[in-house]
Amino acid sequence: MESGAASITEFNRRKRTFMIRGIVPVVGMVLLGCGVMAMGLPDNKPIVLAANLLIFFAGVWFVISAKRHYRCPVCEKVVVPTKDDGTPSEISFGIAYKPKVCPYCSAQLS
Ligand SMILES: [Zn+2]
Repeated sequence: MESGAASITEFNRRKRTFMIRGIVPVVGMVLLGCGVMAMGLPDNKPIVLAANLLIFFAGVWFVISAKRHYRCPVCEKVVVPTKDDGTPSEISFGIAYKPKVCPYCSAQLS
């Protein structure tokens, strides 16, 4: 199917964009946060607070970039995990790892 191949290609491109703009900065921020925290513990409180804010912001960044880049190319919805019966999960910021089809419109994604 031609439209299937096109949606797979486009979804792979989006997944790569999400890796570069989403996962890489998040991992960097978490590692930096852990490094800062290790320097500040046990009792340098302001720097530990800064490290916590950095790690919190990494989580926010992950959610924002997933919502921006990890979308189905056909219906533009975020590709979320499915429940056992195949319907989209309601958890608020999960994303499907290696989805075969879009949970909303069943477009081929891999
Ligand atoms: Zn879709």
